[in-house]
Amino acid sequence: MTSYLIKSARILGGEPADLLLEDGVIARVGSGPVGDDVVVVDADGLVALPGLVDLHTHLREPGREDAETVDTGTQAAAMGGFTAVHAMANTDPVADTAGVVEQVWRLGREAGHCDVFPVGAVTVGLGGERLAELGAMADSAARVRVFSDDGRCVSDAVVMRRALEYVKAFDGVIAQHAQEPRLTQGAQMHEGEISARLGLTGWPAVAEEAIIARDCLLTDHVGSRLHVCHLSTAGSVEVVAAAKKRGTAVTAEVTPHHLLLTDERAVGYDPVFKVNPPLRTAADISALRAALADGVIDIVATDHAPHASQDKETEWDNASPGMLGLQTALSVVIETMVLPGLLDWRGVARVMSEAPARIGRLTGHGRPITAAEPANLVLIDPEARWTVDGAALASLSTNTPFQGMELPGRVVATYLRGRCTADAGVPAGH
Ligand SMILES: [Zn+2]
Repeated sequence: MTSYLIKSARILGGEPADLLLEDGVIARVGSGPVGDDVVVVDADGLVALPGLVDLHTHLREPGREDAETVDTGTQAAAMGGFTAVHAMANTDPVADTAGVVEQVWRLGREAGHCDVFPVGAVTVGLGGERLAELGAMADSAARVRVFSDDGRCVSDAVVMRRALEYVKAFDGVIAQHAQEPRLTQGAQMHEGEISARLGLTGWPAVAEEAIIARDCLLTDHVGSRLHVCHLSTAGSVEVVAAAKKRGTAVTAEVTPHHLLLTDERAVGYDPVFKVNPPLRTAADISALRAALADGVIDIVATDHAPHASQDKETEWDNASPGMLGLQTALSVVIETMVLPGLLDWRGVARVMSEAPARIGRLTGHGRPITAAEPANLVLIDPEARWTVDGAALASLSTNTPFQGMELPGRVVATYLRGRCTADAGVPAGH
């Protein structure tokens, strides 16, 4: 196995230091003797963070290999600086049994670009009625700890209560896609001035906030653990802040696109901007950024949602909601949080690596960059700027909402247990 000496990297944005990666671990931080066969990487000016961890990725396999595969999706992940992703359960077949989660987990190991941790469905077939085999998925080789019907909300309060009760046995968490279904029937975009002007059916903020409030109360009642997916409104921030204040075991995520883009993007009806939950207002964005900075929102998660062109490049009403995110997430976080001074690099490591690893109960990721820890790392050029081109991304799909935008910060290299999985934007071994 190749050993690497990473010269003069700024660990978490601090003072430059050398890192020796050997046999899958960080063998040493600081200077010292090295062997002749060590590959030297000049990291002068680069920032080193622990490998990023995504709690919310759609890899589409099995079932929609025309949109993404585990191989292509995890290539995109590695190029985006990720060493671990959680693969959402809304595949075909749905990941609601030990067999399907083990299949996805195995595909991830075979591809080798990053660790893949399957998310198990909460209910059979995402039907919202009967609990899936949560215990069997937890006990499987995939060791599932995160369960979600994402794409759909577990809207039945009794089913949600049973799920929260069930996962306590193995320290699992229910990740809720908070969307009250009756309040969002036929919804096409954020309900507000612009939806009224465009004549599109609105998705009101209260449909998210009401479910989050209910689920926080259920979580208190049951004494379990809740994670809120893609929180998107200022009101949801208030609900989560109040719950945390009284001690609810709730964590929350925000997507990069909800930190940067507003519902005004819907003007022009370009379906690349259609997403669920929808893009909200500038006031919501301000609240989300402030909440991520002060810890009310725990993590950034991509909700990477590739779609084949026939599902996306169609009229707005019929287009599938969702956006690519893995290769742009870090840059959007730099743009929206680091450059405005809301987060430093230590903060980026917290919201994109340490906290998501903790929520997913991962042991080998989100660790400190110190000797004897697994060598899961990303090297970032903070000064570089690049222009997003969907066709040039590793994903099989091209539906990036950041097409043509110039963004700050580039991933220079990613290391998974000491093996280089992406090098200057080119995935290793391809
Ligand atoms: Zn969702």
